[in-house]
Formats: sequence, C-alpha cells, structure tokens
Amino acid sequence: MASLQHVYTAPFARAVRSRSLTITTTSASLSVVPSRVSVPSLSRASHIDSHVLLGMSEVDLQQLAKDFGQQSYRGKQLHDLLYKTKAKEIKDFSHLVPQAFRNGLEEAGWKVGRSPVHRVVTAADGTVKILLKLEDNKVIEAVGIPVEDDKGTNRLTACVSSQVGCALRCSFCATGKGGYSRNLQRHEIVEQVLAIEEFFKHRVSNVVFMGMGEPMMNLKAVLEAHRCLNKDIQIGQRMMTISTVGVPNTIKKLAAHKLQSTLAVSLHAPNQNLRETIVPSAKSYPLEAIMKDCKDYFLESGRRVSFEYTLLAGVNDAVENAIELAELLQNWGSGYHVNLIPYNPIEGSEYRRSYKKAVLAFAGALESRRVTTSIRQTRGLDASAACGQLRNEFQKSPLLEPSDSAESQPAVALAG
Ligand code: SF4
Repeated sequence: MASLQHVYTAPFARAVRSRSLTITTTSASLSVVPSRVSVPSLSRASHIDSHVLLGMSEVDLQQLAKDFGQQSYRGKQLHDLLYKTKAKEIKDFSHLVPQAFRNGLEEAGWKVGRSPVHRVVTAADGTVKILLKLEDNKVIEAVGIPVEDDKGTNRLTACVSSQVGCALRCSFCATGKGGYSRNLQRHEIVEQVLAIEEFFKHRVSNVVFMGMGEPMMNLKAVLEAHRCLNKDIQIGQRMMTISTVGVPNTIKKLAAHKLQSTLAVSLHAPNQNLRETIVPSAKSYPLEAIMKDCKDYFLESGRRVSFEYTLLAGVNDAVENAIELAELLQNWGSGYHVNLIPYNPIEGSEYRRSYKKAVLAFAGALESRRVTTSIRQTRGLDASAACGQLRNEFQKSPLLEPSDSAESQPAVALAG
C-alpha cells in the first residue's frame, strides 16, 4: 500500500543533520554476501532463506542455541545482539558469543539477515528515504518521518515496504506502474525499521505498513514482522498501522488475529464504479463486501478502521463525492476515520493534485456530516522522497549491478 505521501505536521529537525537535499551513495558499506549464497535467479523460491536470525523470537533463539549444544542463555544473548546492539553479521557477535558457536552457525549457513544501505535521500523537512539493497539485488525503500507532536514529544514513524513492487496497479500509484517482483521475507521488513533507527539514532515509535506493495498479499510475513516489531523491538501494537487497498478474505483473516493495530483501508472513491476506475483490483472485491469486513474488523478488534482517500483533481474530489462518502460510512456504523491525501503528482501520470480549496471543501462536507477527518501533509516532496517519486527516478536509471544479466535484472519498483 503506497499511500504515504503525507503524514503529520511538524518535523523534528534536530534528528536530521542536513536541512537540504542530500543524496548519499554508500557503496563502500555494502555488506559482503556470504560465499555460500549463489546469485538468485528469478524463481520465486530462490530468495527464501530459513537460516536467518533476524525476525526470530527469544524462545526460538534459545532453542537454536540448545540445538548447537549451548546453554539457553546464549539465545538471550543472540536476541540482545540482534535487536539491541543491532549486529549486522555473525562475526559482530565476537565479544559475547563463543567462537565455536559462531563458527557452527556460519558453517550451518546461518546469517543475521541485514542488507546494506544503498542510498539515502534526505528532504529539507526531515523525511528520509532509505534504499536497501537485498541479497538478490532488488532494491526496496523505507521512509523515516520525524515528527514533533503537540506535547513536544519526538516521534519517529517508519513507513515500511512489504513487497518488491506491487501487482495491484492502482492507477495513481508509482509502485503499481513498476509491476510486481516478489514478496519480502519477514526479516526484510524488520530490517527496514532497524535501518531507520540507525540513521536517526532514535527509536522508531510508529510503524505503518504503507510502503511498496500490498501487505495483505504477503500477510504471513507481515504478521511475523509485526510480532517481531512488537515483542522483540518493543513497538506497541497500537503504534502500528496495516494498510490495504482491499484483497478478498484477508481483512477477515487479519481480524482473527485480534491485533491492537489500526487497519487503514484505501478507499479512494465513494462508490463501486468510480473505485474500479481508480483501483482496478476493486472489481474482485465489491465496496459493500469491504465495508462489511471493516465493520466486522472493528467489532472483533475494537480498533477503529481508518479510510484513506487520495484526492485526484476533477476525478473524486467534488463535494458530491464527499457527501456520498459520508453516507456510505454512516450506513456502515461508526468508529471510522477518513484521511484525505492530496495526490502527490508523479511523472507521466494523468492525474493532477487537487486545489487547496477543493480539499478544504471536501473535508468540510465530511465533518459537517460528523465524519472525523484529517488532511495529511505531504512530506519530503522537495527531495523526491514523497510517495512514489524516487521510484520514478530510478526507473529512468535502474539500480543494476554490472554483473546483472538481462535475465536476472530486478524489476526495480520503489515505493508508491
Ligand atoms: S498499486 Fe499496490 S502499492 Fe500502489 S497503491 Fe495500489 S496496492 Fe498500494
């Protein structure tokens, strides 16, 4: 779900070293790919690696230690090294973990599962986009958004990707235009948060699954990453939001987990016909069915559902659309919230950003019908760090290594 074009109000500038656009290539810090790992092909199974420490729970790490003939407290040490020290390679464990255990892990093919930072883009407003280069040379992005809230508390939101690219092709989305490549594994989701914490030297307080990809199309890994972020990295469930454009039967599945996290549903239209023109995948999941599933989610979890609505000038931003949206929500009960997202233009798109007057009129029409509404502020536009923009830039100049053959070229599709 690539709808994070926005978010929050005041940046906490102290966390950001530069106030101007900075593009940093950190090729010198590229980690060494273990020699046992062959260059992945495009087959779906090739990138799945079960010998990854990052993402494992303390109990699992204790069991792993025992499997290697160690006492279980060694598992606790591994846990601290992964999630507190943020060690990147097994050799970084040297001051705590005995050499025999380290050697055993490496010989058995275990690795930490951290990827090198390929590039960092810093916007003047403090938003930072971090590109991570995965083992199979695919590139994903994570966005760090520093905010100072009303009480003066510094918060840091991580917007994480769940897939490389996206198959759903929402008409306004840059990620969708780049196509789908593969699902991320749980550690590839978790490491995005760690990379943001490292860059800002600050704890991540909020996580939104709104980067590249549709989280519900990779629900197993998203739930595993959610567990790890909550239990191992200690980010409260209520501080996390899982977004979706709507994939049949998945909201029900998510509701069954009774998470205390917010579900954000990208609606973008108040009726089925208009929605299908903006979100082609809506054909397989009628609006009525989505609304019913959202109501059930609220009843099951007690957590309100947030509806995302990208405003596209002259398409879905008329006051009549707002009135229809208010009626739709009122028909399905209460506990809903609407986030209006003024469209963030991308090159080659037929859509335009709504005028401020239209955005305010739309919000006013909702609020006058007692629908709680917020308007998200675009962050990072100046550095092409807003939703989808960096991906477009890299499409012109894809991130390929000299050794990449035409066959193994990654479908680079950075966040929408
Ligand atoms: S194409 Fe995929 S990433 Fe983009 S908005 Fe739609 S679901 Fe989200």
